[in-house]
Amino acid sequence: MKVRKFLPEVSNFECTVCSRNFPLSSVQFRCSCGGLLDVVHDWSLYSPKYELNAFKNVTSGVWRYKPLIYPEIAEKFIVMRGEGRTSLYEATDNVHTYAGCSDLYFKHEGENPTGSFKDRGMAVGISEAKRLGIETVFCASTGNTSASLASYASYAGLKSIVIIPEGKVAYGKLAQAMAYGAEVYTVKGTFDTSLQIVLKLSTREGWYLMNSINPWRIEGQKTIIFELLENLEWHSPDWIVTPAGNLGNTSAFGKALKEAIELELINDLPKLVAVQANGAKPFVEYWKTGVFNQEPNPQTLASAINIGNPVSYQKAFSALQYSNGLAINVSDQAILDAKAIIDSSGIGCEPASATTLAGIKKMVEDGTILPSEKIVAILTGNLLKDPQIIIDYHQNQLNNIEANFANEIQPIENLEM
Ligand SMILES: *Cc1c(COP(=O)(O)O)cnc(C)c1O
Ligand SMILES: [Zn+2]
Repeated sequence: MKVRKFLPEVSNFECTVCSRNFPLSSVQFRCSCGGLLDVVHDWSLYSPKYELNAFKNVTSGVWRYKPLIYPEIAEKFIVMRGEGRTSLYEATDNVHTYAGCSDLYFKHEGENPTGSFKDRGMAVGISEAKRLGIETVFCASTGNTSASLASYASYAGLKSIVIIPEGKVAYGKLAQAMAYGAEVYTVKGTFDTSLQIVLKLSTREGWYLMNSINPWRIEGQKTIIFELLENLEWHSPDWIVTPAGNLGNTSAFGKALKEAIELELINDLPKLVAVQANGAKPFVEYWKTGVFNQEPNPQTLASAINIGNPVSYQKAFSALQYSNGLAINVSDQAILDAKAIIDSSGIGCEPASATTLAGIKKMVEDGTILPSEKIVAILTGNLLKDPQIIIDYHQNQLNNIEANFANEIQPIENLEM
């Protein structure tokens, strides 16, 4: 990759609560006031819109947007695995009919190297770890962050440690973390318990935390938005709909949209929708009431978003406010039915990703979304991440779930010959 020479430092960290600034050399994720940090870029020192042309042919769909995410990092530190450049699919007729709309697209982040959007944030976070001379990277995870971390760390020659809730990680993801060579530790409890543990460990010297509290993860995940806008030739859709767990992605999307408007990459602001599951919806409650209470016992079959104490809830709130969007929740039944529809259209996704279609159907029904509006749904993870739930659904073996779109395996006698 050809990296143009930029000014030595055009970025720094800024507290999202009190706006205090910190230099890039400071390795901390919270301000002394408790607020989370963002990376901010001083656009007045260079012209990212112009610089973007120079990166058009970079194979990584993350580093293709280098001027917008990390202009000054030197080429020797950059880690890439062909992340990004994912497909934007037009929904098929049966999907349109199911949701009651006519202009729906899926941005399939399950097409990333390890099968989820986490690779975009990881590409930037691991590059930063290399720049800092870190030896060990670590995270708490519902599964996909650990799979991505393990892969990118090993590829970059770093050691990785992952802490996951016992019995709550889909097999595809657990298998990846083990196969890619992470040290894997399990914790009794939820993702939230695991996150509390890694936050305590994060002051260890030589260890670098890779959860989405790390602002470089957010910079990488902004490229989902830049890329989908570029896929649409910088014409904004009316809506962008995404699943919401720890709320890093929702935060990244809001930041990307704000920057795309500031830099005049787009003229119109899409409305951002964060979708949670009924059993894990602390953010929806916060959005409605303005009071944040964690959900001590989060419970949804969509394991990637089974999170009761999302770390980025304030950033995500600002993101929805900025874009005139909203937060909604859907039932596990609606999620798994929507998943069966997405899967049977030939595209496929993991359960959490299907909250998008379930949410869109709900919003079309209640009049929030007009049937003719242009919608982009983010499919966050690959169908193969969680094969067990697919088999169980189609055999109607899930507790409290009706397999409304079951495709059962049949004995050969049923075949007319
Ligand atoms: C991580 C993840 C989410 C949730 O993203 P947040 O940034 O934590 O809100 C949703 N879907 C999948 C497949 C994920 O891996
Ligand atoms: Zn602060």
